[in-house]
Amino acid sequence: SLSDKLDKALHVLKGHGQITEVNVAETLKEVRRALVDADVNFKIAKDFTNTVKEKALGQDVLKSLKPSQLMVKIVKDELTDLMGGDAEGINLSGQPSIILMSGLQGSGKTTFSGKLANFLKNKKTKKPLLVACDVYRPAAIDQLHVVGDQIGVEVYSNKEEKNPVKIAEAAIAHAKANGFNVVIIDTAGRLAVDEQMMNEISDIHQAIEPQETLFVVDAMTGQDAVNTAKAFNDRLNFDGVILTKLDGDTRGGAAISIKSVVNKPIKFIGTGEKMEAIDVFYPNRMADRILGMGDVVSLVERAQEQYDEEEARRIQKKIAKNKFGFDDFLKQIQQVKKMGNMKDLMGMIPGAGKMMKDVDIDDDAFKHIEAIIHSMTPLERENPNMINSSRKRRIGKGSGTSVQEVNQLLKQFTQMSKMMKMMQGGGGKQMMNMMKN
Ligand code: GDP
Ligand code: MG
Repeated sequence: SLSDKLDKALHVLKGHGQITEVNVAETLKEVRRALVDADVNFKIAKDFTNTVKEKALGQDVLKSLKPSQLMVKIVKDELTDLMGGDAEGINLSGQPSIILMSGLQGSGKTTFSGKLANFLKNKKTKKPLLVACDVYRPAAIDQLHVVGDQIGVEVYSNKEEKNPVKIAEAAIAHAKANGFNVVIIDTAGRLAVDEQMMNEISDIHQAIEPQETLFVVDAMTGQDAVNTAKAFNDRLNFDGVILTKLDGDTRGGAAISIKSVVNKPIKFIGTGEKMEAIDVFYPNRMADRILGMGDVVSLVERAQEQYDEEEARRIQKKIAKNKFGFDDFLKQIQQVKKMGNMKDLMGMIPGAGKMMKDVDIDDDAFKHIEAIIHSMTPLERENPNMINSSRKRRIGKGSGTSVQEVNQLLKQFTQMSKMMKMMQGGGGKQMMNMMKN
């Protein structure tokens, strides 16, 4: 990956107490190669390393006390600059504010429309309306309805109407009449740039004059992402870019190139399929991430946002009273899941990303557990001790699992309850003892 390569390149510097002109040149060559490998346009990569070189010489890296750190800082600052400097928000000044999504099919427009609606809705002062303007695929309209139901946001659609401009206009009228202050318009895309799609999206764009036109692009498409961004920008002069699918093993190249080619800010990133997998794009954090330093700040922020303190206090009380049951356990699982894909989270911790590469922890890990708990009666959930063999058999059948799996969960649950009780009692020592045994 890019960060591995940059790690290696910068290692050349870190390894040397002294930097010589020779290894500056060597390092920058490595950096350039790493960028090109990650689909950064060759010219951009070359300009980038030239700028870094000039800055390095200007700041007299060779004579500084900690040359490698200074070099890393220059590379990082330059990457940050290249991706857009400070984070930029979206314009929500309209009455209502109209946000138009554009991009190829499969780029993540529908998913991101939902994520953005959810993000704004959580800000309390915003009441978003989602609008289905994909008139070609009825399934696309249904997909937006599913998303809307999931996050509790109304979706405006009209399967009879085949003109997306008319749908958009009617939706805006509906928003005005019903107190919606943000209108998010999801549109149809094609697999590749074509004239009909471009005409259609620019017709919508001209008719409704959105405050914010966003171009949604799949970060995994690499170099193509840049060409697509250029084609859309030529027609729409969009306001910002949404970079999706930045989870998993996605290369960072698109983020680095897009800004310099279309000169538009990247505003949000998508980091998973869930509605919560959305982050504001911070160029400096992205630079950290690309450089493999880990994105601890956003990890902490995301965890805080999702963690409901009141719920935590309620659970603590139950633990103290020995009343922690399976319903509470289920809620905790849901909390963990809300925080997003575990791998994403681990990827933000420096060093952990590599460790997690081959380990597959995802929500499937919880599926059986959830099924088993769902097959318990409320009384059983409150009093796990009452679950005898015949109850275990019933629960196993009901959840499509086995008695062994039910047993395993009960055992884990008992252990966990004990552990939680110890931790709460400030029993650090007890816990250490238990781990020794
Ligand atoms: P559209 O055709 O542009 O509306 O794209 P969709 O929103 O339907 O997304 C296409 C596919 O990509 C769906 O399977 C989504 O679940 C998936 N997807 C969207 N955003 C992300 C993301 O940030 N990460 C991952 N892993 N998948 C995503
Ligand atoms: Mg769609």
